Amino acid sequence: MAKKAFKSESKRLLDLMINSIYTNKDIFLRELISNSSDALDKLYYRSLTDKKIKVKKDKLEINLSFDKDNRTLTITDNGCGMTKEELESNLGTIAKSGSLNFKENMTKDEKIDIIGQFGVGFYSAFMVSDKITVISKSVDSDEAFIWESEGVDGYTIKEGKKKDVGTEITLKIKEDTEEYEYSKYLEEYELKKLVKKYSDYIAFPIKMECTHHEMVDEEKKEYKDTKEIETLNSMVPIWKKPKKDVTEEDYNNFYMDKFSDYDNPLKVISSSVEGITSYKALLFIPSHAPYDYYTQEYEKGLALYSNGVMIMEKCADLLPDYFSFVKGIVDSEDLSLNISRELLQESQSLKLIAKNIESKIRKELESMLKEDREQYISFFKTFGVQLKYGVYNNYAADKDKLRDLIMFYSAKHKKLITISEYVQEMKEDQESIYYASGASIEKINSLPQVEQVREKDYDILYLTEYVDEFCVTAIQEYDSKKFKNVSDENLDLETEEEKEATKKANEDNSDLLKDMCEKLDEVSEVRFSNKLKTHPVCLTTKGDVSIEMQKVFDAMPNDMGIKAETILEINEKHPISKKLKNLYKKDKDEFDKYTKILYSEARMIAGLPIDNPTEISKLICEVISK
Ligand code: ADP
Repeated sequence: MAKKAFKSESKRLLDLMINSIYTNKDIFLRELISNSSDALDKLYYRSLTDKKIKVKKDKLEINLSFDKDNRTLTITDNGCGMTKEELESNLGTIAKSGSLNFKENMTKDEKIDIIGQFGVGFYSAFMVSDKITVISKSVDSDEAFIWESEGVDGYTIKEGKKKDVGTEITLKIKEDTEEYEYSKYLEEYELKKLVKKYSDYIAFPIKMECTHHEMVDEEKKEYKDTKEIETLNSMVPIWKKPKKDVTEEDYNNFYMDKFSDYDNPLKVISSSVEGITSYKALLFIPSHAPYDYYTQEYEKGLALYSNGVMIMEKCADLLPDYFSFVKGIVDSEDLSLNISRELLQESQSLKLIAKNIESKIRKELESMLKEDREQYISFFKTFGVQLKYGVYNNYAADKDKLRDLIMFYSAKHKKLITISEYVQEMKEDQESIYYASGASIEKINSLPQVEQVREKDYDILYLTEYVDEFCVTAIQEYDSKKFKNVSDENLDLETEEEKEATKKANEDNSDLLKDMCEKLDEVSEVRFSNKLKTHPVCLTTKGDVSIEMQKVFDAMPNDMGIKAETILEINEKHPISKKLKNLYKKDKDEFDKYTKILYSEARMIAGLPIDNPTEISKLICEVISK
């Protein structure tokens, strides 16, 4: 029979897996058992909502068996099974979403990272086997099919025979090599150990026929082997075990298995609530963002269980968007198994649980910030954008809940600080919380507007992410101190004398400034200022839209034409002012050139594009070659 090829990316991934770049081969068993457990969950849930499907809960199970002579290990379940099409689409493709961008010069660790992001799943079985045979009969079909593959070459699917609904997976275990003893997966003791270690919490029994070596006659030292079917797992879901009986490693293993992560979680949050609605929740904050986290494809949600039975894999209503990175499970006896998902989502119990969970996560993050700042910063660097987005999203309804979790880079401390820390350190005469935005810390550092504020020894929060300014604008104020952009036209940091001097310079040169403004379509005003220390020019803005915000609007697909109202400020104390005044009197042509060049300089400093770069560079050359 002709072999079907794996999708090309799958092939590459398989190749890597078979060449065992994944060091822990043991995990293949937990992956297969976990798939079986999901299939059992699915079948049971179907039986509750579809009267045609009859299932006895206590008959649902997973079986392990091995044959040393033939070197096979078989994992069987009586779950929902797979149709021919499902075998094809579920097992014929790895990396269903996104693409695996392996690059030539990537290190092994980087490759593992990528593989890990997709979850190794079923394919991990190729780490220990040369051939995999899957016989499956779906609950929705009368026929069974056999899927078979020896790895990268492809797979075949043909009709098969199977009495009951479910799936049987047989692995032909690899021959031992100098580096690895694959035969251990054909040992009762080893299999028992692996199930206990990785799959103990699985809610269905994992059974295996075990041999007991019993002494039948003490005197003669006679032994007899008896065989007995044993359940290898305790079946108590990890979240139902008393906390003291669960180690950190247990939590980590559960997390990695259940949520297909290759790394331990950053934080485990477990909570048990008794009240009008009782529930247990086991939540995890991942240590890194899932590969698709910042894409449309990412689905938030917690797995929802009703007394140990999974009702929904991802219940989105349990998490607000700003905590969408949280993974975990919620188990409540108060949720009815027999109502439709739509009704469930409307239930008051679910709403109450969601509210509690939101506040639990928030409190945990607050205490992490207080007690383990390093860990919090690691968290914030990964998911902070989501929190900042949460501040202004939804008409800023949640800003008060989140504002104390937000951090920005402090110019003074050269590290992240909270808004509250900024306010506590404010100088006595300081009116506002100053911030500056730009593409990077270095770029903001060199902004002309930053100088004046830093000279007063006021700290400045540096906003480098596109959400930052929207976040700050939504928060508006903290402890009655308002946020102020250092690029705001009206910073009001000058002394009375300086103000007078500036006013006079502007009045005396009003014709010159008006003339400049008329030449520059995009600015609403040109003025002399005292704000700048060493720089000749800068752009400031009036009103709510800053230059950085305008850049975000410009980058949006549906450009709404929202523009910042800009002012070109010229440093009155800089020699260029004198030059301008001279030229204005003596050489209007030259004056126009200077106007254009200075405006382009200001745009450049603000990180704005220059529409006519060729013209400007020609002008600069003309001027400097004189
Ligand atoms: P994942 O479990 O992360 O989705 P896998 O590669 O492990 O990825 O499995 C792919 C899919 O194959 C599963 O999502 C499931 O639909 C199906 N599948 C795997 N094993 C079984 C099984 N024992 N019974 C029914 N379906 C299964």
